[in-house]
Amino acid sequence: MSFQTEEEKQVIQSHFDDLLRSCTRCNSLEDRDLIIKAFNLANEAHMGVRRKSGEPYILHPIAVAKIVTSEIGLGAKAVVCALLHDVVEDTDYTIEDIERIFGKKIASIIDGLTKITDVFDANSTIQAENFRKILLTLADDIRVILIKLADRLHNMRTLESLPATKQMKIASETIYLYAPLAHRLGLYAIKTELEDLSLKYRYPQVYEEIKSKIVDNEKHRVQLINHFSLPIIQKLEENNIDFEISGRTKSVYSIWKKMQTKNVSFEEIYDLLAVRIVFNPYLHIPEKTQCWHIYSIITDIYKPKPDRLRDWVSTPKANGYEALHCTVMGPDGKWVEVQIRSRRMDDIAERGFAAHWKYKDMDASSQENELDKWIRRVRDMLENPQENALEFLDEFKLNLFTSEIIVFTPKGETRSLPKGATALDFAYEIHTEVGNMAIGAKVNHKLVPLSHVLNTGDQIEVITAASQKPTWELLNFATTAKAKAAIKNALKGEVKNRIERGQKILEDKLQELGIQPSARVFKKILPAYEVLSKDELYAKIGAGLINLENLKRILKKDSQSKWIKYWKLQLGMKTKPESEFEASSKLDLRKPIILGEADDDKQPYIVAQCCNPIPGDEVIGYVTPDDVVVVHKATCAEAVRIMAQHGDKIVSAKWTTQKALSFLARIEVNGMDRIGIINELTRVISEELMVNIRKFYIESHDGIFEGYIDLYVHDVAHLNNLIMNIIRVKGMENVRRMDKFDDRQGFS
Ligand code: MN
Repeated sequence: MSFQTEEEKQVIQSHFDDLLRSCTRCNSLEDRDLIIKAFNLANEAHMGVRRKSGEPYILHPIAVAKIVTSEIGLGAKAVVCALLHDVVEDTDYTIEDIERIFGKKIASIIDGLTKITDVFDANSTIQAENFRKILLTLADDIRVILIKLADRLHNMRTLESLPATKQMKIASETIYLYAPLAHRLGLYAIKTELEDLSLKYRYPQVYEEIKSKIVDNEKHRVQLINHFSLPIIQKLEENNIDFEISGRTKSVYSIWKKMQTKNVSFEEIYDLLAVRIVFNPYLHIPEKTQCWHIYSIITDIYKPKPDRLRDWVSTPKANGYEALHCTVMGPDGKWVEVQIRSRRMDDIAERGFAAHWKYKDMDASSQENELDKWIRRVRDMLENPQENALEFLDEFKLNLFTSEIIVFTPKGETRSLPKGATALDFAYEIHTEVGNMAIGAKVNHKLVPLSHVLNTGDQIEVITAASQKPTWELLNFATTAKAKAAIKNALKGEVKNRIERGQKILEDKLQELGIQPSARVFKKILPAYEVLSKDELYAKIGAGLINLENLKRILKKDSQSKWIKYWKLQLGMKTKPESEFEASSKLDLRKPIILGEADDDKQPYIVAQCCNPIPGDEVIGYVTPDDVVVVHKATCAEAVRIMAQHGDKIVSAKWTTQKALSFLARIEVNGMDRIGIINELTRVISEELMVNIRKFYIESHDGIFEGYIDLYVHDVAHLNNLIMNIIRVKGMENVRRMDKFDDRQGFS
């Protein structure tokens, strides 16, 4: 272990003195003492340790502390924490030591910093899980995240000395998480530097190329900007405005990003000039008024592009950004973007919310600032964690990257939402209950569905109905993490309640009858009530769709209810003894099942009564817990529901046409009543078409008749042919197939 040389000691001391000088917000004696104490402890703890570059380790915490105070603008506590940020992680000191020496608050921040160190090291799932932890500590004390950002910034600035693979990893994390985080916190300068440094290590050639082009073009650009600015400077001075004007340089990263996304050349992007005017406001005139005054002066000189006016003064961005942006036609025939900001706005834009503190007294009403709103949104996400940590990360990242839209409530209050947000998201943004009861919305007084995508400036009134409940379909229209979590929650609660209620009702009833609920009992009950699983049974009982009045009778009946037997007979299936039925081979869900060849030893199947498919219909199979396949029409609503809930129990199914089996179908008929029409109808069906009629139900009143006929057909072609023939009977108006047979009289 090598200790510090005299020369190193001097270097360290001068860096620390520089830090102390820059701590403008740490004026009290106690603050200074605390900072010196922290420095002494850290210096001693890291003694003899060197960074990869060879310099003493303590220079890193000093540099981080310097960023924390002079680039982010935090106070003494944060400086102390920055100095100590690697002590617990890398030395023998414990968090208890820190608490003993520096107190609870500082210890808790150091603890947060220690816990989130190296969080992105493991595989991606753990990364996401750890990312949540970061945000949890963030909700605790925002300084943890700010110091972490400063730590990352210094590591990026000194990335040169690390091996290339490490550079790549750190640079990638930086662009993936830290830069968006900095953006969200409004730390524009740090965000830009992180982006540029990340690009430099990820794509060194691209970076150097763009950088050298910027240098080459700089002179020409400055000329253009001066040419543009001169008349403005003159007019602003005439108006006694105290201001600074500068040509805004675009960052390497932002140029590269635009080249990528817009697929344009460097020149096309770089030619777009941007100028920033920062003014020192008069004390008694609102800043907003002065912004518009300057706007008016500029647009007297140059013609503005009407659709490019951005008023972030009246409505600041979610991250707190305030400015007035406009684009005007410059003297060289080029559009120039002009940003107008007060000194305060500029400070906030560059240094983020930390600068808010400096100006806090200036505007007490902005206590509830945009950052608080953001933290609240992060908290919302944390309180409704998704089952899948990765999904959470994706949703969070999505929310980080998409830009904001600002919309209005009917009372004119603003809400910020991610771009692409729908009316439904807005409803949930207002309140979970409003979202749950939403049936539609009025956007700018026009009625729209909940799926309607909102734009900045929209005013939205949510229309609710007390009877409304969230559905699975609704999830398709939710884009914010908050709305998705709320809908999933409501759905889970709804189904769970119903199932629990139903289970209780059934168990009470069985107890009343003196019967233990057993597998045998359910084997009787499930088919009798035509449900596919216990949960479905419970849910339907719970929802009042099944009453248990005939439970006793059902349990007395044969083990398989009559309708299953009936169907098996109709389908030509052997009705196996129960034991054999149970032992039937496990299905291979990957292979389609072949329907219609039921007399060999293939899997038994039954036809779903909700849609009554016949050969020729496109069908799917649902495998019940008893390994019986229930065949539905692919278009059946019930099948869609089952697929959504039990996707793993769905098999594809195909009809075989080898044998002419008979399937029951129902056709609905109506027409003009005339004497003998019924006779003729039955004659056509049974004599001409030679089809067996199972049931015939006709009602006539006021000169018209309507009813239905159940008959046996082989497949869809057969049925269609039949319908074509029936419709030819004189007086017949409509003949059509019915999917659902509402009554079951014919089956018992
Ligand atoms: Mn560090």
